[in-house]
Amino acid sequence: MIQSVAFIGLGAMGYRMAAHLPKHFDTVYVWNRNFDKAKQHANEFGTLAVDLQQAVQADIIFSCLPTSADIEALIAGINIRAGSIWVDCTSGVPSSAKHLAPLFQQQNAFYLDAPVSGQTIGAENASLTFMIGGDQHAFKQALPAIQVLGKLIQHVGESGAGFAVKAVNNMLMAVNLCAASEGLTVLKAHGVDLHAALDCINASSGKSNATETILPQRVLNRSFPLTFALPLLAKDTGIAVDLVRTAKLSAPVISLAQNLVQVASDTAEENSDFSTVAKMYESWSNITIE
Ligand code: NDP
Repeated sequence: MIQSVAFIGLGAMGYRMAAHLPKHFDTVYVWNRNFDKAKQHANEFGTLAVDLQQAVQADIIFSCLPTSADIEALIAGINIRAGSIWVDCTSGVPSSAKHLAPLFQQQNAFYLDAPVSGQTIGAENASLTFMIGGDQHAFKQALPAIQVLGKLIQHVGESGAGFAVKAVNNMLMAVNLCAASEGLTVLKAHGVDLHAALDCINASSGKSNATETILPQRVLNRSFPLTFALPLLAKDTGIAVDLVRTAKLSAPVISLAQNLVQVASDTAEENSDFSTVAKMYESWSNITIE
């Protein structure tokens, strides 16, 4: 029986995810580094803005920070409560989950790597996909709280498996985004109407999330709304490349896409959305994808 839940990290994802919890649980703690955001969340949604040490006393603790390094630094400064289950929704590093899970078990607690996909709109609609690695029993215990935030909730394996699936998923998205940006640049160079081209592609075998949503809704209309920062995508593709390296495999498409996303991230303006990968192709070709 879950009595209390907490959410740590009220960023683009966490702020929206944590908003659903008070509808289902009486005690919902929130904590954010910039504490004004936690207070604002409490005012807006009826959560309780508390200090970090109190937040981690909850039965289920969700977190959503940029990187595993941020999570590890935060966990190093707290006392883990026996019996608690930490559900880390950060898109993190598998080796970090493999390090943290036994650390929690020494305190009779559990750490699940539980990254999400579905973007900020999925966080807002509670329709996220969760890919979860770690102890099966803890997963089942935390499930009623996770179900408040997600639609497809899948246990994918041991600690680190959730982070691995997320990294590969985002790598596939990056590959498709690069390929689709190149494809549309080529079509524009040949005088083709890109809206008409996308209509055809999206009814054909070349379609992907990049052609169906990212390019039409962010690039062609020149909006590039900041919902998922480009450096976070570069972090994810970097994790995928590390997975390739540690498995001693060769994955040329993954390596190339990582290089492209990293260059896009290094050369983009500050606070650029991930869709600005397309702008890198525009600057190389002098062709605007619109
Ligand atoms: P944001 O940058 O919007 O938010 C980051 C949050 O983490 C903020 O609350 C920030 O606090 C906090 N934070 C940053 N560094 C630290 C630190 N060292 N210690 C404590 N708190 C810290 O990121 P997102 O919400 O976009 O992303 C969070 C995670 O979710 C990332 O791993 C990302 O890859 C993943 N993700 C993002 C998606 C998206 O569409 N945005 C979709 C799916 C996954 P403060 O307010 O004080 O800066």
